[in-house]
Amino acid sequence: QTFLDRIAALNPGLNAFITVDSDGALAQARAADVAIAAGKAGPLTGLPIAHKDLFCTEGLLTSCGSKMLENFISPYDATVVARLKAAGTVLLGKTNCDEFAMGSTNESSAFGAVKNPWDLSRVPGGSSGGSAAAVAARLAPAITGTDTGGSIRQPASLCGVTGLKPTYGVVSRWGMVAYASSLDQGGPFAKSAEDCALMLNAFAGFDDKDSTSAEREGEDYTRLLNQAPADPARPLAGVRLGVPKEYFGEGLAADVRVAIEAALVELEKLGAVRVIVSLPKTELAIPAYYVIAPAEASSNLSRYDGVRYGHRAAEYRDLMEMYCKSRAEGFGREVQRRIMVGTYVLSHGYYDAYYLQALKLRRLIAEDFQAALAQCDVLVGPVSPTTAWSLGQMADDPVQMYLADIYTVALNLAGLPGMSVPCGFGKGGLPVGLQLIGNYFDEARMLAIAHRFQ
Ligand code: GLN
Repeated sequence: QTFLDRIAALNPGLNAFITVDSDGALAQARAADVAIAAGKAGPLTGLPIAHKDLFCTEGLLTSCGSKMLENFISPYDATVVARLKAAGTVLLGKTNCDEFAMGSTNESSAFGAVKNPWDLSRVPGGSSGGSAAAVAARLAPAITGTDTGGSIRQPASLCGVTGLKPTYGVVSRWGMVAYASSLDQGGPFAKSAEDCALMLNAFAGFDDKDSTSAEREGEDYTRLLNQAPADPARPLAGVRLGVPKEYFGEGLAADVRVAIEAALVELEKLGAVRVIVSLPKTELAIPAYYVIAPAEASSNLSRYDGVRYGHRAAEYRDLMEMYCKSRAEGFGREVQRRIMVGTYVLSHGYYDAYYLQALKLRRLIAEDFQAALAQCDVLVGPVSPTTAWSLGQMADDPVQMYLADIYTVALNLAGLPGMSVPCGFGKGGLPVGLQLIGNYFDEARMLAIAHRFQ
């Protein structure tokens, strides 16, 4: 009830929630009370959560921030949703996001932009802007998001909360609406690394409904962060932090640089040592990503044809006109732009020049990371080149917006885990996030480092 009251008071200004399920949440909370009284509670029993509106939830709207799905009620729960339900959590509702997770500002949502709780005239980041803003405004202690090219880490950074994008394959994509399937990965937003680890414990792990799910033993993501360090005064003794020199180049705003530098000094005080490393293909990550992601999106979004579900135009003369009008009306500008780019780079005559080239870059970028990670335990750097910018500032300049993804998209191309941890403030008191990048399946160690830093 406390969280529902807070949502009622603050959401009209923030627009972080698309759906609030008060009755459902209160019923689930009562069931949690019964479980607790019966001694059957798990670590998350009764925890109020929310899901990005990209996760299918049986009986509740799953809009993906799109007019195309503004009336879509999923007949089933995503695996992430089902697992968090089984863990006894209480679902408050669904959070706003960029349309089909395409964007870095949450302004492409058909349900309107989300406001950054630190400054209502600024963007919360995207695409999981509603999730990040809601955790920052304490509308829920933990919320899910998805990250295809930064959509968990970047809004976490801009809103001053912790967000984790796991290794590709750790979190099931079953029931998580596809944007770019080879990059998409679900993960948690919360106040701290420890809370993120507890959330991950509940929903990560093999799922035979997702063919790319990693077949691994379940693990306890809190195990390393709960271990007492040998020297409590220097809990990060022996940890090697790789600092990629390309992440501190020209495009990085001075105030973000200062905050990141201060965080590195802090980490050193805790015993960590810095190793300068290089990710030479950094500047090729954006072009590779903005070919591969739209290519996959153009294919994934072909399912919205107005026939089986989703928006259908009211008037049409024949089948082709029904497809065209339904898609023209249902998709917003950014989604249409990406479908066109994706269709173009996949078309005969351009496939080799763009798509195949991008796939080659993708492999080289992954090799860069392996070379760098061979010299350290985690990579550290900024998440976003600037703090939260003003609403509308990049609305007419998609390329400028794509360039702001410079520090986040490469990791998705490689399939590596990464997180954003609040590390200070830039100009105007706006939050800055520190990015940690670990090796494959090394989430527990990354979380432990973040925990000791926090
Ligand atoms: N900003 C990136 C994009 O627009 C990343 C989005 C995401 O991770 N879903 O594609």
